Amino acid sequence: MRTAAKVKSPARRSATDHAAGALPQWTTAEIEEAFRRFKAARPEPKGELEHINPFTLLVAVVLSAQATDAGVNKATPALFAAADTPEKMAALGEKRLQGLIKTIGLFRTKAKNLIALSKKIVQEHSGEVPRTREALEALPGVGRKTANVVLNVAFGEPTIAVDTHIFRIGNRTGLATGKTPFDVETKLDRVVPAEYKRHAHHWLILHGRYVCLARRPLCEKCLIADLCKWPGKTAVNHLTSRH
Ligand code: SF4
Repeated sequence: MRTAAKVKSPARRSATDHAAGALPQWTTAEIEEAFRRFKAARPEPKGELEHINPFTLLVAVVLSAQATDAGVNKATPALFAAADTPEKMAALGEKRLQGLIKTIGLFRTKAKNLIALSKKIVQEHSGEVPRTREALEALPGVGRKTANVVLNVAFGEPTIAVDTHIFRIGNRTGLATGKTPFDVETKLDRVVPAEYKRHAHHWLILHGRYVCLARRPLCEKCLIADLCKWPGKTAVNHLTSRH
């Protein structure tokens, strides 16, 4: 086990200054190596939103907008005990639903969307969460990111949902730069090797949540420190020589 070496502080940039300037390009071999290490460290990465079927996953992802997964997970056991299908959710009604999710930000809007979404799934999709992006994005409260998470986690599609963590990592490290989440998603879709696409979303989110933090990235604990192109990184070696 090697420890990550400290580098002399380069012209120190803010840790959040991730979109500044053009960064060196990653080579194909470097990208392959980064994902090889992510896979070796966590072969079967999982999301942290609790769910019991595709519908409850969809509900949890809708609830997680501008909220933490931990906060959503506190509310969903009681919610899913009361309503784990679109039929039951629609029958619950907006007021009761609000009461069950009131600890989560924007709960009134989310309750309204979840009732409308549940009714639409019952009426137009025979009570089954649709499996296409178009049909998912046509549901109230469901955008591209939510559709990507559902397609990936519930249906095994190799989609990459770009959340705040992935957007930051893509721009900061130079792996996939872009002004919008869609730009970053498009670039990741182009550069991530096919064999790693299915789990790329979770590897990158977990990396952003626990290592490449927004304010103070833990470069000394980073598996891809030697590959990262961010000039402000504080380590250059990765933690283990080979996995
Ligand atoms: S070295 Fe790792 S933790 Fe540090 S900025 Fe780069 S990817 Fe993030």
